[in-house]
Amino acid sequence: MTSSPAHRTPAADGAWHVVAPPDVCRRLGTDPQHGLSREEAAARLARDGPNLLPEAPRRSLLAMAWEQVREPLVLILLAATAVSVVLGEYTDAAVILAIVALNTLLGVTQESRAEQALEALKAMVRPTARVLRGGHVVELPAQELVVGDVVLLEAGARIPADLRLLQTYNFQVDESPLTGESVPVHKEAGASVPADAPLGDRRNMAYMGTTATYGRAVGVVVATGQGTEMGRIAALLQEGEPEPTPLQRRLAELGKVLGGLVLGVVVVVFGVGLLRGEPLLDMFMTAVSLAVAAIPEGLPAVVTIVLALGVQRMARRRAIVRRLPAVETLGAATVIASDKTGTITQNRMEAVQAWVDGEMVDLRQPGQPAGGLVWLLRGGALCNDARLECEERADGAPWRAVGDPTETALLEVAARWGIWPGELAEALPRTGEVPFDSVRKRMATLHANAPGGLTWPGPAELAQARWLLFVKGSPESVLSRCRALAQAGAIRDLDDDARAAAQEAAARMAQGALRVLAVAARPLSQPPEAMDEATAERDLVLVGLVGLIDPPRPEVAEAVRLARSAGVRPIMITGDHRETAVAIAAQVGLLREGDGRRRVLTGVELDGTSDAQLEQMLDDVDVYARISPQHKLRIVEALKRRGHVVAVTGDGVNDAPALRRADVGAAMGVTGTDVAKGAADMVLADDNFATVVAAIAEGRTIFDNIKKFVHYLLSANLSEIMAIFGAILLGMGRPLTAVQILWVNLVTDGLPALALGVEPPEPGLMRRPPRRRGEGVFAGGMAWRDAYQGLLLASLVLGVFGWMQRTGHDMAAARSAAFATLAMAQLVHAFNMRSLTQSLFRIGLASNRWMVGAFVAALALQLLALLWPPLASAFGVVPLGRAEWEVIAVASLAPLPVVEAVKAIERAVRARRASGNAR
Ligand code: ATP
Repeated sequence: MTSSPAHRTPAADGAWHVVAPPDVCRRLGTDPQHGLSREEAAARLARDGPNLLPEAPRRSLLAMAWEQVREPLVLILLAATAVSVVLGEYTDAAVILAIVALNTLLGVTQESRAEQALEALKAMVRPTARVLRGGHVVELPAQELVVGDVVLLEAGARIPADLRLLQTYNFQVDESPLTGESVPVHKEAGASVPADAPLGDRRNMAYMGTTATYGRAVGVVVATGQGTEMGRIAALLQEGEPEPTPLQRRLAELGKVLGGLVLGVVVVVFGVGLLRGEPLLDMFMTAVSLAVAAIPEGLPAVVTIVLALGVQRMARRRAIVRRLPAVETLGAATVIASDKTGTITQNRMEAVQAWVDGEMVDLRQPGQPAGGLVWLLRGGALCNDARLECEERADGAPWRAVGDPTETALLEVAARWGIWPGELAEALPRTGEVPFDSVRKRMATLHANAPGGLTWPGPAELAQARWLLFVKGSPESVLSRCRALAQAGAIRDLDDDARAAAQEAAARMAQGALRVLAVAARPLSQPPEAMDEATAERDLVLVGLVGLIDPPRPEVAEAVRLARSAGVRPIMITGDHRETAVAIAAQVGLLREGDGRRRVLTGVELDGTSDAQLEQMLDDVDVYARISPQHKLRIVEALKRRGHVVAVTGDGVNDAPALRRADVGAAMGVTGTDVAKGAADMVLADDNFATVVAAIAEGRTIFDNIKKFVHYLLSANLSEIMAIFGAILLGMGRPLTAVQILWVNLVTDGLPALALGVEPPEPGLMRRPPRRRGEGVFAGGMAWRDAYQGLLLASLVLGVFGWMQRTGHDMAAARSAAFATLAMAQLVHAFNMRSLTQSLFRIGLASNRWMVGAFVAALALQLLALLWPPLASAFGVVPLGRAEWEVIAVASLAPLPVVEAVKAIERAVRARRASGNAR
């Protein structure tokens, strides 16, 4: 990655905090209303380079190769080879060197492949920024930002460059990455800041790498890339190595333990061999080769490749993994705690129903709005951060909606009823706001209502107010701040009857699966003293309710069913109304039938529940409604205490703690904030619940596959050790030479093992329960399987070796036959490992075409080594007769029927046990 040159604009020398916004824009040659033109931005990008911080240089291929060769055992092998050169064993030395070179090549290819895959993953989660370009709001990769760009920020956004703030609305920023100060800082575009103020006190600036935690702001880019404050200290911030996954860590440890064991055995083999009269150097070479071949030091690297390949497959299914350990955890997930809006539903909102002046109005039949409906539609469009852009649209649509779907739906319904939001906003300019957040569940905006401007129907107290404050939000949160109700041209007290009527109307809409918002207004003769909820959001007059449909995603019902069959319980945790949540949950089958148990819990009820009580209820409750982010965190923690492995979805800035706390935090790719994405293990590119389920299936497959090749390698390596140890103990001589051992290992460890890593999902993958938390690759009697399979292969090799000796062949011929048998039996055995429990013939002989290819290629290589005279002589192989080949063929194929038979017995025992348990 190239780093961009420093390009602070010299005029201000970084002291932009003392320059007033209009001057800043003038000096930077930008227009705060329209931003830069596309051409100007392109020119600046070409001049200044991308907005990137320098990254650590990639490891060179040579460095990777050196790491491969540096292994102590490889060095010993090379030293031994040098000795054999001195003794005149040129062929062996050349072959060993060639094999070590090939092995290094294989290792380097694998590692660089793994690195590339990890790079590609990083690229998928590159941050974006919302920018004004040529008068339009566009979402750009943050690296394309240039000095002078006007950037729009809201809660949860990562600050993409150094900005001088032009406008701020209750804007707060977490600057801990820069200053270490963990309390969010209030920012104020208009604040005057002394020239010598330290970074943390520059309240009218926002710096790259920090995050917005609250409110909204507009800022102009004053420095990018290395020119930013972060760029100055970036040398200190370079990313570390990706953390190893728990499995990788365990395998690395296993590798060490096994390495020790193998070394021990090899020393014994060497000693016994010498006692049995084997030549010293030959025996030494055999022992070292055996150690090199049989110690699985490459396991963690292969695991990385398989994880990375799996992660690429997940990305194709729209689940983008940010942290590798999540892949393993996914396969063990027992609960998916999902949001509703946008995850289970489509997030394509449409306002369909209104309640105004005490009556329901069908919003799908537009007409001339009158009375309360005017207030509702205008209020909903004014108290709104979305926008409709009218440019020529290829698809013929009248506008392009930009912003939160709840809000665009309100703009669209207003427009359909003849109220144009753009004109409205001009007639009633917004002068203040209290932003939306998911705890308050409402927002407020203040507007100047100039006399002689728009005319309003209805009560004079409202219509002629000099200032109008609009509030929209969940009915409960708005109603509790209302004093009155606008109805039929008058303002009446919000007495118990009126309140009950409004609540009943809201409940009716919600039961129809509508998302309900209340809109209220407050007439003011002057702006409130402060734009905070206590001062501004009170004494409201309710103008009406609006109901939005947001249909479930069609694929969710099937995904819910699939998750259940896989022993993963889906639950819904939503900020929305109880009735809306229940209606949607029922539509997708997420709500289990009422059997007297409590299936729904609201935030208010949760507040009255102790942790112990909550834990008791967890297994029953399917839907949590009117939940705030703190509740969500509580639920996640309770689930974890009950031993669940929890996958959680989230999007808002306040969801970060729950995402972090979850075993797998999944952030929304489309609607999610940068903060949520930063806290998550995984990003759902399509925000879809079904994607979580697909990711769980992939996670299970990946774990299965890792298990398959780990045990393939272990059983194969074990067979080599057992064969050589056995032969020497039994006084049969060395069944394989050093170069033969190295070669077999190269041929079988390489391609077939990798092919096992990309096995397709096993049938029944999503009909079996999740793996238990912390269950490693040895669970379920795997060590026993490795042992019997290693022994099986070793016996076959020794059988052939012994038979050759008894039928009067010399040592070279006997070794040639053992060499052929070992390699080919291992290749056949790879097919056994394609499923640890199911019959190869059930999963299909050719269902993994990589395996077929790997088998053909490896077999061809082995046959070359056996039959092509130049190679054969290098390996000390002598020609064999037809009868010998027949014996080798039978022995090599034998692992298949034997392991199939054992699997069948295991399946029968398991079925018997299962039915015994059922009885
Ligand atoms: P989920 O948690 O499943 O995504 P949600 O999107 O409904 O559900 P929030 O975004 O926290 O959760 O919204 C909670 C409530 O706040 C909504 O039910 C609605 O009443 C209200 N609300 C949502 N968006 C807005 C908005 N833009 N302005 C005002 N109120 C809103």
